[in-house]
Amino acid sequence: MLDHSGPTDNHLHAWDRDHFFHPSTHMAQHARGETPNRIVTGGEGVYIVDRDGRRSLDAFGGLYCVNVGYGRKSIADAIADQAHKLAYYHAYAGHGSEPSIELAKMVIDRAPKGMSRVFFGLSGSDANETNIKLIWYVNNVLGRPEKKKIISRWRGYHGSGLMTGSLTGLAGFHNLFDLPLGPILHTEAPYYFRRADRSLTEEQFADFCAARLEEMILAEGPDTIAAFVGEPLLGTGGIVPPPAGYWPKIQAVLKKYDILLVVDEVITGFGRLGTMFGSDFYGLEPDLITIAKGLTSAYAPLSGVIVSEKLWKILVEGSDKFGPIGHGWTYSSHPLCAAAGVANLQLIDELDLLANVREVGPYLRGALAEALADHPLVGEVRGEGMLAAVELVKDKADRVFFDPPNKVSVRVASAMLERGVIARAMPQGDIIGFAPPLCLTREEADIVVDATRQAIEAVAASL
Ligand code: PLP
Repeated sequence: MLDHSGPTDNHLHAWDRDHFFHPSTHMAQHARGETPNRIVTGGEGVYIVDRDGRRSLDAFGGLYCVNVGYGRKSIADAIADQAHKLAYYHAYAGHGSEPSIELAKMVIDRAPKGMSRVFFGLSGSDANETNIKLIWYVNNVLGRPEKKKIISRWRGYHGSGLMTGSLTGLAGFHNLFDLPLGPILHTEAPYYFRRADRSLTEEQFADFCAARLEEMILAEGPDTIAAFVGEPLLGTGGIVPPPAGYWPKIQAVLKKYDILLVVDEVITGFGRLGTMFGSDFYGLEPDLITIAKGLTSAYAPLSGVIVSEKLWKILVEGSDKFGPIGHGWTYSSHPLCAAAGVANLQLIDELDLLANVREVGPYLRGALAEALADHPLVGEVRGEGMLAAVELVKDKADRVFFDPPNKVSVRVASAMLERGVIARAMPQGDIIGFAPPLCLTREEADIVVDATRQAIEAVAASL
């Protein structure tokens, strides 16, 4: 057994630098010890604690995933009970476990109308890979092999695999990886604050986005476009709610050209907008829904694809013609993760977290706006449900952005951390993101707002 018994020994820090390849990390600086590392050991409610005893209010819920908060005993017990009973059995060829079947039923009961079945995976990325394969399979079954291209948006985030990293519309996830791959196209980001033509109203900008989409479909040929993939509101691309009227206009274009709608609800699924799904919030009619994060509140890795009745019928027809579907993961619907999912969804109901989102989410955004909207560095305070963002600008009147090397948002996020609050410097642009656990209280929201204001003032003074 390795010895890492006390908070003062630094074996783990050294081993971390020497052996651990961290995701989304500056590898050289980490290995050389130039950037801080953090070994997190515990969590309770909205707080995490590290090995050095530092406690932080996690206003990003891990990676917008610890929706019920840290330290929930009922979920830990459910995982442990299932581990004692049956840690694993696969789901191939009609097998299953009690919690995986129960969870499938619970998900469909909560899903928007018209949804029929759930395929379980482990991550948002693999679920979006499943989506693409199902879309291609369906169009092959329907005898339209040309209809295969998929349109996503610039600034969309759909994962970091090969196809899902291609769907993602952020340069940092493409560069040096030879992405995006062939059949993926990107259309206009519905990002009103950054619109090129500042004379447009929100409705006009939404018309513009729909027109750009239609132009792309016509230029490529409608018979080649299979699906459109989008998050209800842009997440990692900047936490940006769509402009008024966006989704009805986009859905009209998709219907006109018989293009499937995949709604990526990895962030918005299970309550983040105060409704069970973002599709309910925006009135979307998805053919496929991607779920992950909030499905288990990250107590165990689990994702899923919710398939509409319309597509399910075609999949059934496909298996009658071609045999069992050749798609699955060893850990699809892993019993421990499914047990976590069942306990997590029960907890969301018991604590009425959706009501808390509807109350505390607007309170958090209102308090952020009140504290910051007049600050010369703050271009916009925005969000929806329990999601918020503060976008920083160099010149407010002319909407001039900082040059990326200034790393202004990274500096604000680290100044916040010094004040005991975790927010996320979003990867593209100077945007501070907030996605706290759905159980955040007003008092905790006040702490977040205070730290944000102080941090912005400290960084502004240093510029
Ligand atoms: N889709 C969305 C909307 C996401 O926000 C994410 C992750 O942040 C993913 C997909 C990918 O999920 P994962 O990191 O579990 O692969």
